[in-house]
Amino acid sequence: MLIAGNWKMNTTLPEATALAEDLAAYVHEHADALAATHMAVCPPFVNLEATARALADTDVAVGGQTMHTADAGSYTGETSAPMLRAAGCTYVIVGHSERRKYFGETDADVGAKVAQAHAHSLIPIVCVGETKAQRDAGDAEAIVEQQVRGALAEAQGAAPTDLVVAYEPVWAIGTGDSATPEQAQAMHAFIRSLLHDLVGDGAADVHLLYGGSMKPHNAEALLSQPDVDGGLIGGASLQADSFGAIAQIGAAQAA
Ligand code: PEP
Repeated sequence: MLIAGNWKMNTTLPEATALAEDLAAYVHEHADALAATHMAVCPPFVNLEATARALADTDVAVGGQTMHTADAGSYTGETSAPMLRAAGCTYVIVGHSERRKYFGETDADVGAKVAQAHAHSLIPIVCVGETKAQRDAGDAEAIVEQQVRGALAEAQGAAPTDLVVAYEPVWAIGTGDSATPEQAQAMHAFIRSLLHDLVGDGAADVHLLYGGSMKPHNAEALLSQPDVDGGLIGGASLQADSFGAIAQIGAAQAA
């Protein structure tokens, strides 16, 4: 079970430090109840180091929210995989729907980022998911298949445990309108079958996260689905209590 938080473009440096310190206090206080789950948070780049420092005496990992495919060079405004590693990252989110929508990230870009992440020992959290119009048109599986195949196009030979896939239906992100547990399970089972094709027997070891308005009140129903191995949490990760509560629910499912 992996519960990961995506802070997006939220938190100034003092706010990120306070949130990370709150989270550190929460995980210390609830250490037993959280023992069976992994946790990670993905703050804005500028707050990575402070967040990693505040969480240093916990098992909460830190990740980037995106990354360039070059190691270094003339790419103004970008952040590289070596920079993420040096700032203390274990994970990097790639292909979030907001990156696809606002920054034109394509399936080929996502595939290249997955390869770059692996080249630098970062675990990519690959986001896939259909829009409402695509679901209504009956195209949800076809879109997700194209995104998963694109993401893994250059990932042959990667260990399944070095890969996380997050199913995030675009219509569920930030809307309060989560997928039903049945919708999530159906798509996760579909992604698992695709992964069997792409990475073989190890597909069972790939963490498949659900993302899209997961909150403490709906987390149990979602996280209890057989192919849901965790959550990628946006809004509810911005408070230690709600993020921690979801992680405790995940831990109870995993125990
Ligand atoms: C996300 O953007 O990855 C996300 C899941 O956001 P939220 O939980 O706010 O829907």
